[in-house]
Amino acid sequence: MAKEELECSFCGRKKPETNLLIAGLDAHICDRCIEQAHGIVIEEATHSNNEELTKELMLKKPIAIKTFLDEYVIGQEHTKKVMSVAVYNHYKRLLQTPTDDDIEIQKSNIIIVGQTGTGKTLIAKTIARMLNVPLAIVDATVLTEAGYVGEDVESILTRLLQAADYSVEKAQNGIVFIDEIDKIARKSDNPSITRDVSGEGVQQALLKLLEGTVVNVPPKGGRKHPDQKFIEVNTENILFIAGGAFDGIERTITKRLNMQAVGFSASMSDDTFEQDNLLQYIIPKDLKDYGLIPEIIGRLPVLTHMDPLDKGTLRAILTEPKNAIIKQYKKLFEMDEIDFVITEEAMDYIVEKAIEYKLGARGLRSLCEAVLTDAMFEMPGGDVKELHVTAEYAQAKLNKETIKKLKAVS
Ligand code: ADP
Repeated sequence: MAKEELECSFCGRKKPETNLLIAGLDAHICDRCIEQAHGIVIEEATHSNNEELTKELMLKKPIAIKTFLDEYVIGQEHTKKVMSVAVYNHYKRLLQTPTDDDIEIQKSNIIIVGQTGTGKTLIAKTIARMLNVPLAIVDATVLTEAGYVGEDVESILTRLLQAADYSVEKAQNGIVFIDEIDKIARKSDNPSITRDVSGEGVQQALLKLLEGTVVNVPPKGGRKHPDQKFIEVNTENILFIAGGAFDGIERTITKRLNMQAVGFSASMSDDTFEQDNLLQYIIPKDLKDYGLIPEIIGRLPVLTHMDPLDKGTLRAILTEPKNAIIKQYKKLFEMDEIDFVITEEAMDYIVEKAIEYKLGARGLRSLCEAVLTDAMFEMPGGDVKELHVTAEYAQAKLNKETIKKLKAVS
């Protein structure tokens, strides 16, 4: 066949009418047909993804969600239960077909109050993993009102799009975890802040996303790419989970509880309440007193709390989760054919140090790392094929200086 007679085997366009004609074994395809075919592939993939999502969600009842969470998150029973119901209801809402009874199920966005390192992000991550939906984790502290230094609220959706490999469809069913939501509380008590860059303005901007709206999202984020085309993202079916430590909110809670107690019965006193876990008594009003605007609180209707991690929980975190730290080390050593054994006492010792130096669950990992670094450096390729970590061994590796350094990092 003469060169100029080549044509696309799909649409019949002659080579000069195309921008590009690619040769296969017995056929040719032009650039337009490639694009069209690519479109079909994407459409089909999204379609089957949606079907998959529906199928999977139909199967996962709240009890099953909670069981899945149990595999990764230790303790936090109340929050795991509340979240399982909220997530189930949220996705049930997505599957709802319009009926004529006019009952529209409200979105069950969630707010989790709890000290840092108690597993808020972990729960959000685990849920996203279970549902196989994209998850964006954003820090509320970087958000500012449009025009100020920092990131616009829309950047949250840029992250979600990235997590969804730019599939708008997937992003629209995704989960956004907004960390440190307490840091954008209104600072009206502080008269020196005249321009409330990080406070109420950001809350107002966030409100729109939480409510459900179509947002023009800059795909690359930031303001450095003014020429980029916007992508429209509808936030109506995105599940928002907000988390924050709300430092000092216990004072508000105590004050309220005491006032209630006085009003209720003069005989009730402070010690009726569990003093070391006051967050369990939190109500939406406390968040309002802390400086979240009522509209935001209203759009985060599921309020729950994280329990502080006690010794038993920290100890369990070392060994029980599916990808527990100790299991990970065992695997790492196994890859060098080294048998790694750690005694109960050694693990208790590590937990004690985490508590003593207030390193929390995050500290467990760094403590283990400090204990095992020498062995991980020296043993691979050597003759010794067994590592037996006792409390004495751990103690020898964890001198005061080492722990102090860990503390400075965490
Ligand atoms: P937060 O978001 O509350 O600050 P994270 O979820 O980031 O805390 O927790 C930090 C790390 O600590 C997690 O990656 C996990 O390894 C561990 N961790 C914290 N709480 C738990 C828990 N309840 N169960 C299992 N691991 C936990």
